[in-house]
Amino acid sequence: MISGGIIIHDTDIGAYWEKLFSESGLDTLGIHPAGGNDAHLTLEKFLSAQNDPEVIGFINRLSSKGVCIELECHALSWLLPRDMFAKNPHWFRENEQGERTADFNMCPSCGEALEYLSERTRRLAALIPWNSSYFHLWIDDVASAPCMCEKCKSLSPSDQAMLIYNAMLKGLKAYRSDARLAYLAYHGTIDAPSLKPEEGIFLEFAPIRRCFEHAVNDITCQKNAAEIASLDSLLAFFGKKDSKVLEYWMDNSLFSGWKKPYVKLPLKRDILEKDIAFYRAKGFERITSFGCFLGEEYAKEFVIPPVKEYGEVLSE
Ligand SMILES: [Zn+2]
Repeated sequence: MISGGIIIHDTDIGAYWEKLFSESGLDTLGIHPAGGNDAHLTLEKFLSAQNDPEVIGFINRLSSKGVCIELECHALSWLLPRDMFAKNPHWFRENEQGERTADFNMCPSCGEALEYLSERTRRLAALIPWNSSYFHLWIDDVASAPCMCEKCKSLSPSDQAMLIYNAMLKGLKAYRSDARLAYLAYHGTIDAPSLKPEEGIFLEFAPIRRCFEHAVNDITCQKNAAEIASLDSLLAFFGKKDSKVLEYWMDNSLFSGWKKPYVKLPLKRDILEKDIAFYRAKGFERITSFGCFLGEEYAKEFVIPPVKEYGEVLSE
């Protein structure tokens, strides 16, 4: 059977989601400290809550039922803190104007920065000693912000990301030798790279610009045709082993424009069914969706969100 999951905000950890998840039949729960430009602060806050009895209890109880608990977040600004820019501007990217800047991402041709990144990633893994060997520690949440320095400018955004993920995986493997790390195919990195991934890198396909009125493989829909245009080359490049879909069917933060007030989740079962059939036929091993903005407040205002229904469609 294919593995299925949902990803919730770290702030949603608690009895409400524990019950919802336990009744869903899903086997993977992603924890997503969000935060946009403040992603490093949100992640730091979550990491420092690892001794909180509520967090520990939640993770331990679900883990003991065989649920894979996984961290999924834009971790780069925590792994390579931007306040290191003053001492090490060459670790950071060069923008279109030829200036080094700590706004987004990094210079992936800088060996020193990659070494530092590896070590920080090892440290991060040690702070979350959970049961899963899968890690999802993404580059910054920006459509595209590659380094334009002399060494990097000939590398595509996807190849720059590949260098970054390879360095992260090296650190993860120093913590646990079976570690696997996602290459997030999303926005500027949705085309396949050409640089070789290290053993243990897997494809995580996140079609954030898709349309939900049509099935994702309905190529009469321009948005969806564009969003899946690179999918076959991505699967050919990374292989199907551990391949994962990160969808948005249950992501009420997306449907609400990432701000309050919440809308009612517009889940369309027929689209969900068609999409899942398509992803299965492509050979994806794991299918997940964001499930943000569906917490207790949502349930009070609308109804209990259809997490069980989503789990049922995935297990059909
Ligand atoms: Zn560079």
